[in-house]
Amino acid sequence: MKEYTTLHIGGKCKKLYFPKNEEEVKKILANDQPIILGNGSNVLISDEREFESAMILTQMNHIECKSEVIIAEAGARLMDVCLYAYQRGLSGLEFAYGIPGSVGGAVIMNAGAYGGEISDVVECVTTTEKQYSKEACAFSYRHSVFSDRSECIINAVFRLKKGDKEMIRMKMKELIEKRIEKQPLDQYSAGSTFKRGPDFYASQLINDCSLKGYHVNEAAVSTKHAGFLINQGEASFRDFLTLIHQVQAIVYEQTSKHLECEIKIIE
Ligand SMILES: Cc1cc2nc3c(=O)[nH]c(=O)nc-3n(C[C@H](O)[C@H](O)[C@H](O)COP(=O)(O)OP(=O)(O)OC[C@H]3O[C@@H](n4cnc5c(N)ncnc54)[C@H](O)[C@@H]3O)c2cc1C
Repeated sequence: MKEYTTLHIGGKCKKLYFPKNEEEVKKILANDQPIILGNGSNVLISDEREFESAMILTQMNHIECKSEVIIAEAGARLMDVCLYAYQRGLSGLEFAYGIPGSVGGAVIMNAGAYGGEISDVVECVTTTEKQYSKEACAFSYRHSVFSDRSECIINAVFRLKKGDKEMIRMKMKELIEKRIEKQPLDQYSAGSTFKRGPDFYASQLINDCSLKGYHVNEAAVSTKHAGFLINQGEASFRDFLTLIHQVQAIVYEQTSKHLECEIKIIE
């Protein structure tokens, strides 16, 4: 499974499905209960057991546009949706340029960055069960109604606004440059490991506790961005989980604040 995650951690899986459309997804789910993955950029997967099956949606990546509305399949890369919007002079998704997830993964956790969130632009979401209006998606910080359900997201509709193409390009360029400057993009990671708290940034607390570079074997707190826990190459699931727990414990001991995991742990 590690080949399908940006953390590059994960064990064996007996069966992998790569559905190409909704019909194939429904057929798979009628007979099996696979782990569902988009781009695997927000997960820590166990390497201590053999999984029965996983369904990876990256081949369901069609994107289309009707006036100011973009309809993107769940496996489409969010980056590709951003580029698609830019090419058509549609504004609203600039904030998401640089988030390495799929549309499905971004909707589930209401992905966001630099003051924007997926919920700002979602009009509706279709799952294998039904269609949800934006209100029914019940978006909140890094959470949606889908976070607690086992439905598979099939596509999402984004409502954008006509904008100036050059301004859109400049914004996307500015944000990607910020990421390159601040984030360890040359290392295996799942982005920010912990959620922002009500009155703190996880990265700030970790930094204040002098934990940059702290490691458990090859699982380490990035020296570039304290909010990113990284796999330096050969970290195991246990190394990474232990690092998460140790960082949580040290931060709690020194600040009395609890760091909640943002990444999904699949074990
Ligand atoms: C370098 C880096 C930077 C990042 N920066 C940001 C950032 O700025 N902001 C941010 O919010 N996140 C960020 N992330 C985290 C991650 O990219 C986002 O959370 C992204 O939305 C996850 O999408 P994914 O397709 O990779 O999801 P996955 O990791 O594949 O899956 C995440 C969860 O969603 C479920 N899932 C995925 N697709 C579906 C579907 N179609 N139907 C049902 N369930 C599904 C999975 O089962 C899993 O529980 C970053 C990650 C990295 C590696």
